[in-house]
Amino acid sequence: FTIINTIWLKMAFSSEEQTENYLFKIVLVGDSAVGKSNLLARFARDEFYPNSKSTIGVEFQTQKMEINGKEVKAQIWDTAGQERFRAVTSAYYRGAVGALLVYDITRRQTFESIGRWLNELYTHSDMNVVTMLVGNKSDLKDSRRCRPSEGKAFAKSKGLFFIETSALDSSNVSAAFQTVVREIYSILSRKVL
Ligand code: GDP
Repeated sequence: FTIINTIWLKMAFSSEEQTENYLFKIVLVGDSAVGKSNLLARFARDEFYPNSKSTIGVEFQTQKMEINGKEVKAQIWDTAGQERFRAVTSAYYRGAVGALLVYDITRRQTFESIGRWLNELYTHSDMNVVTMLVGNKSDLKDSRRCRPSEGKAFAKSKGLFFIETSALDSSNVSAAFQTVVREIYSILSRKVL
């Protein structure tokens, strides 16, 4: 049961609901300014910051979701600027069962960094971590420097999910997080439920 080792915390039975609840740790990874904090702000609070300057230090937000009538909590971690110093610690990745690898479709270099982020993720977490490649800022059509087909092809070659999002106009933001959580839940169901 490898997946069980990667579950960060299996929550106790709720006395009222008599259902098992799970908490999944999901990490946001990628170069600076690709929109990690804003994807999380949009998903968890439906907010957007045009000029966000993220504070240094790890932050996370817990988001409740319902899957097949069961409550699942996604604990989503944001590097909050650590990556600027190439100093994302192993503690950040530890126990993650899901990851969103984010690049900015208007900055080619952020797409080219993805391989390095993927290596780092696999070094510090379990290879079974459910990973979504996310091309963010899809609203900036005129400045696009990465074709969707390139993201799709890279994702396919590495066995990742792929989606393009916009934290600005909300496009596909929920879908990006929900697909990861649903897949983790489905793997877990096949193994233990
Ligand atoms: P992080 O460093 O990866 O957490 O990136 P931030 O969330 O701080 O975003 C960096 C900059 O990109 C900020 O100025 C955001 O307002 C902007 N940004 C983030 N997501 C989007 C998006 O989907 N579209 C556009 N146009 N700008 C975005």
